[in-house]
Amino acid sequence: MAPIPGSGLAKGLAVTLRTMTKKTVTAQYPDAQPELPPRTRGVIGLFEENCTVCMLCARECPDWCIYIDSHKETVPPAAPGGRERSRNVLDRFAIDFALCMYCGICIEVCPFDALFWSPEFEYAETDIHELTHERDKLRDWMWTVPAPPALDPGAEEPKEIAAARKSAEKLAAAAQPEPTPRPEPGATPGTGPGSAPQAKPTDPQGGES
Ligand code: SF4
Ligand code: SF4
Repeated sequence: MAPIPGSGLAKGLAVTLRTMTKKTVTAQYPDAQPELPPRTRGVIGLFEENCTVCMLCARECPDWCIYIDSHKETVPPAAPGGRERSRNVLDRFAIDFALCMYCGICIEVCPFDALFWSPEFEYAETDIHELTHERDKLRDWMWTVPAPPALDPGAEEPKEIAAARKSAEKLAAAAQPEPTPRPEPGATPGTGPGSAPQAKPTDPQGGES
């Protein structure tokens, strides 16, 4: 059957009219900021105090876009007579966001909780080379990382908090003054354990007794 002339135009106009009456979903960015979920994968923040330069993130990154430089430093022994230790000191930590595919593998594999997702997304550049961001910038993005979600009621206390609480309790117990021993019933005052030695009685005539 041959199509009725003008039916295509009518169909198109019907779609236009239907869409015109619907609520618009277009966000007028940058005049209006988008409402993003708090766990948006915007950019990667580095908490460098936690980084031990283990290189796991750089090794596991499928794009090889994490650049880490470090040097070794000798640390004096913790106790006299102990052995000197060496530790890695971070010199450079950079991520090339022109290569990064936001897979999150680096964040998952970091054993020391040094990498986090931040919802920050406004770091576009006109030059692709400017998309390699160094440790200071990655550190700045840590401030926009949302707090971890609350634990389920009745969940086990996190290991770090349990360890910190135990050490605080130990320190508080060590700072408590030792209780003074109570004198035994019938004992002469000043003769119990811990009492000051008694002065030797002197002869009123001047000689020692
Ligand atoms: S998110 Fe993926 S691609 Fe990006 S730096 Fe981490 S591991 Fe590499
Ligand atoms: S895996 Fe974590 S601790 Fe290891 S180098 Fe990467 S950020 Fe640092």
